[in-house]
Amino acid sequence: MKKPAPKKAFRLTPQREAILRFLEGNTSHPSAEDIYARLRRKFPGMSFATVYNTLQSLLGRGDLIEVRIDRGRARFDPGLKPHHHLLCVRCGAITDLPERAPVRPAGLPRGYRLLSSNIEFYGICPACGKKEGRREELSCAKKRKK
Ligand SMILES: [Zn+2]
Ligand SMILES: [Zn+2]
Repeated sequence: MKKPAPKKAFRLTPQREAILRFLEGNTSHPSAEDIYARLRRKFPGMSFATVYNTLQSLLGRGDLIEVRIDRGRARFDPGLKPHHHLLCVRCGAITDLPERAPVRPAGLPRGYRLLSSNIEFYGICPACGKKEGRREELSCAKKRKK
């Protein structure tokens, strides 16, 4: 009798392989929509469901992390080393912040075994900060003209 294949076997179709390759070492934390938009050019027949299902099975296998810092949409992260996230509230860019040492929050109840942590930081990235500075200058110049 043949051994039954494991239930959650990961069949590597060319499309799935392309998704894996796109994610490998990708630090931009793409959303499912980003991945779909990027790979559809190469695979016009690729459906959003393929992207979604591939992401779900990678999540299930622990090969991918779902990042929830961006309120609107789930973002995906193949970086499995413990790290924190910094979100630009203007453009939505997510930057990885390495975790130097495991965080021990104040007020942790005694006997609580801490497994992991993911701290979310919010800010305005240098590029967006510059743009906003320029916009302020422009509106000041306009006011001065009046
Ligand atoms: Zn930004
Ligand atoms: Zn990350």
